[in-house]
Amino acid sequence: MARKISIFGATGSIGTSTLDLIRRDRANYDVVALSGAGNIALLAAQAKEFHAEIAVTAYAEKLDDLRTALAGTGIEVAAGADAIAEAAARPVSWGMSAIVGAAGLRASLALASHGGILALANKESMVCAGDLLLATCARHGTRLLPVDSEHSALFQALNGEDRQAVRRLILTASGGPFKDFSLEQMRKVTPEQAEKHPTWSMGQRISIDSASMFNKALEVIEAKYLFDCAAGQIEVVVHPQAIIHSMVEFIDHTVISQMSSPDMRGAIGYALHWPARAANPIPPLDFSSLDALGFSSPDESRFPALRLAREALEMGGHAGAVFNGAKEAALDAFTARRIGFLDMAVLVEKALHNRQIESIRDQSQATLATVQEADAAARNIVNENI
Ligand code: NDP
Ligand code: MG
Repeated sequence: MARKISIFGATGSIGTSTLDLIRRDRANYDVVALSGAGNIALLAAQAKEFHAEIAVTAYAEKLDDLRTALAGTGIEVAAGADAIAEAAARPVSWGMSAIVGAAGLRASLALASHGGILALANKESMVCAGDLLLATCARHGTRLLPVDSEHSALFQALNGEDRQAVRRLILTASGGPFKDFSLEQMRKVTPEQAEKHPTWSMGQRISIDSASMFNKALEVIEAKYLFDCAAGQIEVVVHPQAIIHSMVEFIDHTVISQMSSPDMRGAIGYALHWPARAANPIPPLDFSSLDALGFSSPDESRFPALRLAREALEMGGHAGAVFNGAKEAALDAFTARRIGFLDMAVLVEKALHNRQIESIRDQSQATLATVQEADAAARNIVNENI
């Protein structure tokens, strides 16, 4: 029987890669919902190609365009954040959460309620609402599989291992385009420079987050929730070739790593076929043409994001939502050329330590509403400080 699936963020980098895998094995999948935002032409084309039951755009003002593009097909159309949450609540046995940013949280929570598999690319859900998302999965018997390549690597390295025997989780980071830039050079970089990732092809926002190492900072928080370890057990190492996607060190000092070409269809395919392995279209590694694999420690004086993530983890409560909300607002300001590249970390630090939002930040019981409140408060603080 065909497997019922939905993809949220279908028009993005992860979404199109996911559909590329589905396209190769069409008969085995029955697509329920696809979502996008601004790219209506692509969303409509995907919905037609995969005979989706419903196509949803995040933008209310795009509903008419979507309706026109899908007229006569019998495919339902809808728009807005509530419609995305409603579509994500339609039963599926495999759901991909790949909207960018905290805007993806409601889809993640709804997909976590089906008792099947939640393939989680939207790391911001875990950063903003880790406890809430894990509790939702546990309540419904949903299996969460990480799609972020580092966390997929850790998940694979931990397969069948005793969690008590883990000494360190070592997240690899490519270092991004400014790995060797001085602070003076970084001060002047443009959004266009920050978007050009040396090894991975990704959406605009995560590419800029990789350049600032905010992406790795989010991933440290994501790893803490996913693998239930102490913050001190998570380390980051810069590995520019992006061949080793992360490593686990055990108490006997054995290190197990996962390697493959830097192509997200590897991690997506793993989550799609888990617990089995299946052939996929990513290029195999050719060790004879790999010169060397390099490793170094991240320079936190140039990349303060990692320190800020650890501070957020120490604070607990809603600090993850504050951290991410502030980071998103700062990223918006950088791409709008209202602030410089290095100002992003300064603003996130201000939000994280802001006295006015301490009571929201430190609340321990999380609901969707409290997470959204912390996220909004952090964005306000950033915008007030620009
Ligand atoms: P993209 O920017 O390529 O795609 C984002 C998707 O979200 C698009 O479908 C976009 O629609 C949609 N979208 C944008 N804004 C909203 C909104 N406000 N509400 C609902 N939908 C919206 O991002 P990526 O695919 O790169 O990343 C998606 C997620 O996966 C992120 O959380 C990222 O951190 C994570 N991830 C990505 C990796 C990668 O290699 N790309 C690797 C690991 C994790 P439209 O395009 O139609 O406007
Ligand atoms: Mg990653």
